[in-house]
Amino acid sequence: MASKASDFSLRLPGLILESRTVIDGIVEMSGRLAAVGANCPDCAMPSTSLHSRYDRTLSDLPVRGSTVRLRLSVRRFRCLHTPCLRRTFSEPLAPPVGRRYGRRVERCDALVRAVAVALGGRPGSRMMARLSAPWSRDTMLRVVRRSDPATVPPPPARVVGIDDFA
Ligand SMILES: [Zn+2]
Repeated sequence: MASKASDFSLRLPGLILESRTVIDGIVEMSGRLAAVGANCPDCAMPSTSLHSRYDRTLSDLPVRGSTVRLRLSVRRFRCLHTPCLRRTFSEPLAPPVGRRYGRRVERCDALVRAVAVALGGRPGSRMMARLSAPWSRDTMLRVVRRSDPATVPPPPARVVGIDDFA
């Protein structure tokens, strides 16, 4: 079932939500970045010359026990600055929508970080799966490391058996 974009309560600055579907309990939102164009990463010249589009899927925070995904239509622009060697480039993904190579909506990271610091990677991953956000242990630890290396949860305590004293 599809509904109007006005139904969304999961808005993000800089993102235009276009539709929402719910299939097998998974909420999939479709959207695009609101910016008119983007700057070439090599020469920094702005461009609105559309070359193509492709889809990227990002995980978002779960809602009412349902997994939420954002299908983002990403535009590729042509660089029309003659001396520049780059022909095309993708519009950059930046917070609060996401990160350049990230696979989650930025707001997920605060939750991932809090759960990973409180529970550790593997138990945190199990907890997130129960909350309909199946993020791996490695993902959770990576988010914590990226934010503050001092908050990386310690490895789980090793159970010392009687054989260890032998
Ligand atoms: Zn350029």
